[in-house]
Amino acid sequence: TPLDLIRNFSIIAHIDHGKSTLADRLIQACGALTAREMTNQVLDNMDIERERGITIKAQTVRLTYPAKDGKMYVLNLMDTPGHVDFAYEVSRSLAACEGSLLVVDASQGVEAQTLANVYQAIDANHEIVPILNKIDLPAAEPERVKAQIEEVIGIDAEDAVEISAKTGINIEGVLEAIVTRLPPPTGDADKPLKAMLVDSWYDAYLGVIILVRIKEGRLKKGARIRMMSSGATHLVDQVGVFSPRMVPVDDLGPGEMGYINAAIKTVADCNVGDTITDDRKPAAEALPGFKPSIPVVWCGLFPINADDFEKLRDSLSKLRLNDASFHYEAETSAALGFGFRCGFLGLLHLEIIQERLSREFDLDLIATAPSVVYHLKMNSGETEDLHNPADMPDPSLIESIEEPWIKATIMVPDEYLGAVLTLCTERRGIQADLTYVGNRAMAVYRLPLNEVVFDFYDRLKSLTRGYASFDYQMDGYEESDLVRISILVNQEPVDALAFIAHRSAAESRGRAICARLKELIPRQLFKIAIQAAIGSRVIARETIGALSKDVTAKCYGGDISRKRKLLDKQKEGKKRMRQFGKVEIPQSAFLAALKMD
Ligand code: GDP
Ligand code: MG
Repeated sequence: TPLDLIRNFSIIAHIDHGKSTLADRLIQACGALTAREMTNQVLDNMDIERERGITIKAQTVRLTYPAKDGKMYVLNLMDTPGHVDFAYEVSRSLAACEGSLLVVDASQGVEAQTLANVYQAIDANHEIVPILNKIDLPAAEPERVKAQIEEVIGIDAEDAVEISAKTGINIEGVLEAIVTRLPPPTGDADKPLKAMLVDSWYDAYLGVIILVRIKEGRLKKGARIRMMSSGATHLVDQVGVFSPRMVPVDDLGPGEMGYINAAIKTVADCNVGDTITDDRKPAAEALPGFKPSIPVVWCGLFPINADDFEKLRDSLSKLRLNDASFHYEAETSAALGFGFRCGFLGLLHLEIIQERLSREFDLDLIATAPSVVYHLKMNSGETEDLHNPADMPDPSLIESIEEPWIKATIMVPDEYLGAVLTLCTERRGIQADLTYVGNRAMAVYRLPLNEVVFDFYDRLKSLTRGYASFDYQMDGYEESDLVRISILVNQEPVDALAFIAHRSAAESRGRAICARLKELIPRQLFKIAIQAAIGSRVIARETIGALSKDVTAKCYGGDISRKRKLLDKQKEGKKRMRQFGKVEIPQSAFLAALKMD
């Protein structure tokens, strides 16, 4: 296809503003699928994505559109992951296109993720066409939202396309805008091959599939390709496009998007953002901007039923086939037994993996509190990364600790602003900016990630009745006064409950956990001390009193069903007891203690 007849674009939007609905409409309007083939939202193809309305893996669709100018265009629609955890993948997807449709719900207006995404599109030098969606709703205020887009984002919204993706109003207007307002790609077919690796996934029949955008040169079936980051080479078995089904083609030229299949064993060998070149005629340098994705949030995952350990290992390795950004290694805990320490791109990523393990692999798991990655500077001069509080070396060996910070953008209706500012301050936030757009406030804060992985998002949602929107990006490391708090039961540390916090928050958090454990650990025949400590210094303490021999005695006769319940509960608890000194504690107590809410 000649370059001037190609348009590569992505759709960016805040969650629920209608990105997937619009994508489906475009696919339908271009006749790529019959109505019967249009299952619910073609592009969001994982169950969890569909239920939560988020896009996790980038997908692409090639459409053909006969425009009003009489020419037939090839439109490559690149779906981008819509969540901050996948910010790096978003930036790579955007780098594969020349333009973006910015979808804004005309009844809601600009939200935090709208901004985060649009700034990324601007960074990628995209031409941006604003689309006002949901104009069928009585609450739609297209004029107000246009003014808001101009004021907040600073792009011209006068010619915004007003549509309803749901009822199909003005989909033609979107297609014409793509053709007339977005630029065609550029690139030289005679230069050495430079293709960007946009995404990869594991297909049960074909093995690893790689999604590519050709920048220069041609990618042919039978060629030997080379990954420029690692130097690894592979023979290309198949080249094709998504229409949206996989259709083989002979080759892909500059400006085109498609897939290759090259007998690669694991997606871990396919780094998003890497440059693919021809082994026989390699490009001199790689495309700019490549960085491997690194997990920023870690937690332990343990099977509730110890017999499930092998099954967990097997399931994790299967998930990893499709998601190279997720990491795991075996871990042993005195409190929770055998499990894995797992690394994720963010909290949502963590939740998604956990949910897939329980849903697709039928595993009951317990997760320890999420922890960020700390940089330790040791007295010896060495530096270490710490992602498990239980592994913290003796503080006397550590010269300093650095923690990761983020820059968060929070948009919230006026009346909830006070509560949001208080929350940010409590979490050691530093205000960087505060502006108003109509009656919505936009607060920009720098915050330690450590304080955000600890239930920040849930608190934000509940304080603002769900009206706040939130987005963040990583913003470097800074030295901080951090301590490891251990939780001890009768002087024995419970590894799974150890956590790292700022010194100022250590006492209140330690106290909260002790109080909680006091509720959860059944009384025994002797006293049990529960303590929170920094090193050898105890900062909080609770005592569980001793129990008289007859447990049921405290029920004072009367209620027989309550007695039975108590006995049953004891029996259940016995199933998995953990020994702490002379104290036997049912594992269920730890599980409950970890379920902080
Ligand atoms: P995404 O999260 O941006 O992909 O949003 P979806 O496409 O999943 O849409 C979110 C919700 O908005 C769904 O319930 C859609 O049916 C609804 N929706 C999308 N477009 C329109 C529209 O034009 N009008 C109305 N009334 N609802 C819409
Ligand atoms: Mg969607």
